[in-house]
Amino acid sequence: MRTVIAIVFVCLVAALTLCAVTARRSSKSSAASVSLLLFALIPPMVGNLIIISSTQATLSILGCYIYFLGMDLVMFALLHFTIDYCGLSWRPPWVKWVFYGLLLADVVQMLANLVTHHAFVMEELTVGGASYFRFVPLAGQTIHRVVDYAIFLAVLIIFLYFTLRAPRVYRERYAVILLAMVVAGLWQTFYIFSRTPIDRSMIGFAVFGLMVFYFALYYRPMRLLDRMLANIASEMPEALCFFDAKDRCIWTNRPARALLNLKGQELERATERIVDLFGAPGTFPVQKTCDGRSYILDRRSLTDGKDNVVGSFLSIRDNTEEQQALQKERYNATHDDLTGLYNREFFYERTRDMLDAHPDREHLAIFVDVSEFKMVNDVFGTAFGDHALKTIAEWIKKDLSGDAVYGRLAGDTFGACIPVEDFHPARIEEDLSRFVVVDGPLEHLILIHLGVYAINEPELEVSVMFDRAHMALLTIKEDYQIHIAYYDDAMRESVLWNQHISSQLHEALETRQIVPYLQPIVNGGGRVVGAEALVRWNHPTDGFLSPAQFIPVFEKNGMIADVDRYMWRRAAEILAGWKAEGVDLFVSVNISPKDFFFMDVAETLKSIVKEYDVDPGKMRVEITETMMMSNVENRMRILATLKEAGFCVEMDDFGSGYSSLNLLKDMPVDVLKIDMMFLNESRNDNKAQTILHNIISLSSALGISALTEGVETRSQYQMLSAMGCNLFQGYYFARPMPVEDFERFRREHRPGAKPE
Ligand code: C2E
Ligand code: CA
Ligand code: CA
Repeated sequence: MRTVIAIVFVCLVAALTLCAVTARRSSKSSAASVSLLLFALIPPMVGNLIIISSTQATLSILGCYIYFLGMDLVMFALLHFTIDYCGLSWRPPWVKWVFYGLLLADVVQMLANLVTHHAFVMEELTVGGASYFRFVPLAGQTIHRVVDYAIFLAVLIIFLYFTLRAPRVYRERYAVILLAMVVAGLWQTFYIFSRTPIDRSMIGFAVFGLMVFYFALYYRPMRLLDRMLANIASEMPEALCFFDAKDRCIWTNRPARALLNLKGQELERATERIVDLFGAPGTFPVQKTCDGRSYILDRRSLTDGKDNVVGSFLSIRDNTEEQQALQKERYNATHDDLTGLYNREFFYERTRDMLDAHPDREHLAIFVDVSEFKMVNDVFGTAFGDHALKTIAEWIKKDLSGDAVYGRLAGDTFGACIPVEDFHPARIEEDLSRFVVVDGPLEHLILIHLGVYAINEPELEVSVMFDRAHMALLTIKEDYQIHIAYYDDAMRESVLWNQHISSQLHEALETRQIVPYLQPIVNGGGRVVGAEALVRWNHPTDGFLSPAQFIPVFEKNGMIADVDRYMWRRAAEILAGWKAEGVDLFVSVNISPKDFFFMDVAETLKSIVKEYDVDPGKMRVEITETMMMSNVENRMRILATLKEAGFCVEMDDFGSGYSSLNLLKDMPVDVLKIDMMFLNESRNDNKAQTILHNIISLSSALGISALTEGVETRSQYQMLSAMGCNLFQGYYFARPMPVEDFERFRREHRPGAKPE
């Protein structure tokens, strides 16, 4: 009997030690206090074991001391564990000292028993022929029991409280500990009060310790997690359905039951209802609509630790609001706020889609432009301007319907792409001939133009197509009768040509493909007095190019300044050659009105004559009236600077432009170049002669020399001479020629060598 009990005790002590060490190493919460409790249980177990197994009084007394003092330690550890496990703190702090004080006092009085023998004495008794020692409790022992029971009871109450008051999911966590305590307490009480000869009370406590170990560290957390997850799942706003490995629905949360309209326990209908509402789902996740709301369905498999599918769950989330916000965002990103039409980027995208979808169909790219829209805004206000744009957008919508796509390209321009057969130019012309925007009392005639590009290269970028349609417009900007202009290949050719020559200009200047031709200028006596330097381009592949083929291009893109600067240098070079030879002739150079935007004309010319060391008086500069059209004061100042520097200033093409005789009066020019060609064009010889006569008289009255250019016949020359003109230039005398030819020409036409 004794041996069996001893073995049980030894096993329990070993188990406690093992669990205590395991708990010590564990990182789980409460593990440290669990470990302490288990270690604390070992001494009283050992004490109890000694009492049972000893056959000597002294040994059994020692066992008793270890047992009683050990129980105080157990109570201490139990308190510690309880505080930790229940997440409490000693409040007020002195409570802690009351308990610890009680335990300490008990320890002291129990030790006092060594001399006072007031707590217990040992008695020997025989059970089944074997002799055992048992303690006989005295007054001190009662104190010990009161203290330990008080603490045990306090802890019991705490666990009872938490078992009853904690949230539902946590309740079990406390209940199991409470249960273990009750079992251990009853066991202990039974042995103490039954006075069974062999005291096995500690077995109850050892079992309690092992239960705490298991419940606190292993069993409870798993169960708790399950409960919590289940709780979370049922509180989720999204509908959830769980399926077992055979795809039978085993659980749904409340939202799922509401959505699928499942009553009570009709779980088996879940799958059928899901298909009813959303159709066969296919792959997940999937976006579905049902009764005007959007849902996102997702299904996940659940596996055990070894990749075996044990079930799955389906979640159905109502994302209607998100979808609506997304749609709104998409709409805003692709549509123009004011007119509701597509914005440019999206319009281009849609055009691309349409062209790709119908490669066999012919389409038109239409660029819609509102003339002088800025003026409409300024005069009638932006509110009216906005209204006008909306009206135009409405018109586009209505008139270009059918398979058209259309959008707003920028402030006052729109674009459309339509199949050729849907385009009705006659109707559009009629609409646009009187396009009136009415807004209350306000009524305004709006001029709208359409540039049309027939898309014959559908692989082009859409923006390029609309650039072409836009380009077509340039031809009618000023025309109020025509509202539709078509892009043609000539336009394209010209764009390509412009790019072609612009990209080559710099090399052409460096390699002297660009050269000055000189056209002689003669005086009344037919003597060559100078020449005009006119630019020519000996293009290596395109042949001989006249200024008309490239000057307008470079005037548009500003490269003209490079051409002119180059020509001025070449003119200075020629003058320097003549200076060395003692030839007294002048060279006229042309100045484009655009030059003033790209350089300081006066400074450039001054530095060139200085560099070549030539007389600025031999360098004549030809300006045009257009130069004086803007920024008059500044231009006047430039002319004054040139004159001051000694340059001779000529007014070119006089009579061709806006000829303001008034302006002439104030302009510091030395020579008036009158354009015969212009006068000839009037086809009214009498009138032309009168004008010519007047201009020549006026110039002589102002002290300015008159030079007539474009003189082609002897009679013209004679007539002009009679009118008092003293300088001439024209095919009648000579065409513009290369510099070497000019050298020969001037030698052959010596002073006095009059033309026929
Ligand atoms: P422009 O300055 O009025 O030059 C006179 C133009 O009339 C020259 O044409 C010349 O060849 C032409 N011409 C001369 N006599 C007659 C004639 O009897 N009958 C006819 N029908 N034409 C005659 P070109 O050389 O083709 O130059 C055309 C225009 O190009 C020039 O008109 C000028 O505005 C511009 N240009 C020429 N070279 C330059 C230059 O170096 N710089 C700038 N900015 N413009 C230049
Ligand atoms: Ca000229
Ligand atoms: Ca001219």
